[in-house]
Amino acid sequence: MGSSRDYQAEGIVLRHGVIGERDKIVTLFTRDEGKFSAVARGARRPGSSLGPSVEMLTYGRFQCVRRRALDLITQATILDSFSNLKTDLWRMSCGLYACELVDSSTVDGAPNRPLFEFLLEALMEIDRAGCDDTVLRFFELRLLDHIGFRPSLGCCVSCGASLRPVENSLSAAMGGALCPDCARSCPDAKALSVSALKVLRFWLECRLDVARRVKMETALSCELEEHVYRFVRNVLQRDIKSRAWLVRLRSEALLTSTSEASTIPRWFEAE
Ligand SMILES: [Zn+2]
Repeated sequence: MGSSRDYQAEGIVLRHGVIGERDKIVTLFTRDEGKFSAVARGARRPGSSLGPSVEMLTYGRFQCVRRRALDLITQATILDSFSNLKTDLWRMSCGLYACELVDSSTVDGAPNRPLFEFLLEALMEIDRAGCDDTVLRFFELRLLDHIGFRPSLGCCVSCGASLRPVENSLSAAMGGALCPDCARSCPDAKALSVSALKVLRFWLECRLDVARRVKMETALSCELEEHVYRFVRNVLQRDIKSRAWLVRLRSEALLTSTSEASTIPRWFEAE
C-alpha cells in the first residue's frame, strides 16, 4: 500500500514543458481530478520508461504523489498512444487543436468528466477515421456545451419567439439565435442560414460518429466555421494558437495521409 499522498489518475497529456535537463512538467486532463500539472522526473533522459507516457496526445494511467508544490508522476502506463494520429500531420494537428481548446477552457482542479470522455472519444475517432472540418466544428460546438456555453438555438434569445425557417441570425455575444426583427438592433448579429441552423441543432444532439456523416457544400461549411469560432472566441476571450496552423495546413492542401509528422509546429513546443 502506498501512502495517502499516492494517487492514480487516468488522463490525457495536454501539453508539456521542460524543467532542467532531465525532467518534464506535464499538464494532464484527467477523468476524476480534472486538469493539473505534475513533474515527470527523468522523462527527458534517453531510454526513460516514463518518457513515452508523457508525450502529448497520450492517454495513460498515471501514478502520482501529492506534494506541496507540483505533484510528481512516478509511474505511467499507456492506455492509448493514438498511433495513427501521431503519424499523420493533419490528424496530429487536429488532435493538438482539440487539446488546446480543452486546455484553454478549463482551470486546474475542476473535474469535468463529460468533457474528459468527450475529448477521449474525439481523439479515438480522429485516430481511427481521420479528421475533417465537420469533426472540428462538431468538437468546438460540443466543447461549448460541455463548459456551460451551449448556444441557444431553440427560440430567439432576445424576444423568445420561435424561429421561422427563414434567414435568422446568430450572436455570439447574446449566446444564440436571433429572429430577423431582433437581429436588426444587435450589432453582433451575423446571418444564419436555414441549413446552418439545422446542422447546428443536429450536432448538439448527436454523437461524433453520426455528426461526421453530414456532407455539406463548402459555403455551408465556411458559414458554420465562422459562426462556431465566433462563439469559441467570445467565450475564451482569446485566439487558439493552433488554429492558425490548421488553417495554413488546410490551405496548403497538406491533408494527405502521407504527410509525415516529422516536425512539431512551433506553437506546440515547450514554453
Ligand atoms: Zn426576436
